[in-house]
Amino acid sequence: MEKILIIDDSSVQANILKSILHDDYDVTIAHTAEEGLSCAKSGDYMLILLDVIMPGIDGFELLKLLQEETVTQHIPVILITVLSDFQHEERGLTLGAVDYITKPFHPMIVKARVNTHIKLYQYRVQIERQATVDQLTGVANRRLYDTVSRNKWQDAVRLKTSFSICMFDIDKFKVYNDTFGHPAGDRVIATVAQAASIHLRRRTDFFARYGGEEFVAIILGGDASAAFKHLKKVRRGVESLHIPHNKEISPWVTVSIGGVTCFPKQGDSFDTYLKIADTMLYDAKRFGRNRVIWSNEKMEQWREKEA
Ligand code: GH3
Ligand code: MG
Ligand code: MG
Repeated sequence: MEKILIIDDSSVQANILKSILHDDYDVTIAHTAEEGLSCAKSGDYMLILLDVIMPGIDGFELLKLLQEETVTQHIPVILITVLSDFQHEERGLTLGAVDYITKPFHPMIVKARVNTHIKLYQYRVQIERQATVDQLTGVANRRLYDTVSRNKWQDAVRLKTSFSICMFDIDKFKVYNDTFGHPAGDRVIATVAQAASIHLRRRTDFFARYGGEEFVAIILGGDASAAFKHLKKVRRGVESLHIPHNKEISPWVTVSIGGVTCFPKQGDSFDTYLKIADTMLYDAKRFGRNRVIWSNEKMEQWREKEA
């Protein structure tokens, strides 16, 4: 059942609303703006019914606070009030409420509006998901990468933390396709993506399909040697899937990984570091594939499988 949050200082009114909706939805009531905000931040709710007039922080102020939080800014909010004059309605809608319901409630109207906004929200979430998730692998797609990479780069500048970026590429994949067929190749791309993403699930990590049989990962925090160590684990994770490759090439499907760790400052160019990661990947291929080669911003290198 979809979850709805009612934020209303009056228990009587909140319970009337709940009784209208509880057959179809999982309804939670919060009696203050603070309590409501903290519930909303759980990210579990698909709709918020918000009373405008409350002591302390009122509905309009809370609406602003909800819009400032990344987790809550997309949740649709319907304002509830006796204020039927159009100025209040206009204020609520310009602040970002999706709709406005005035008291006394007409149960059928409340239900109909709630149903509509829940459906619209679900549709939007689905569209947004489709626009940002790679269909074959279920990991983030190139489009999401384009946005997230720039944001993470800015975060690293602001937080004065390290930024690691790396490129993955499946080894001799053309031969794999030629040997086992394109559909089998597709399954391998999906399996490799899943295996790699397991190791890149922290809030400070990001992993995406860059295109074809190539992936990209971003890690915030930690130094170059820590990132190198972690990516070796990812590379081994793929190898230990033991997906048979063309025997003349290699026993198993493997990936080569090239990356760089830097401490970006305002004015530094993200693209410069992406190019370094790409060069490291090229070196990983050149030195024999199935290995990680890493660099820091001084161009000191860490190479796997070297004496
Ligand atoms: P290298 O070790 O140098 O990376 O060799 P490679 O054969 O993997 O490199 P190359 O870039 O020449 O070929 C990549 C191949 O990946 C070509 C293409 O057939 C295959 N490929 C790209 N995208 C997909 C896809 O979505 N599905 C499948 N099955 N194969 C793909
Ligand atoms: Mg490639
Ligand atoms: Mg390849």
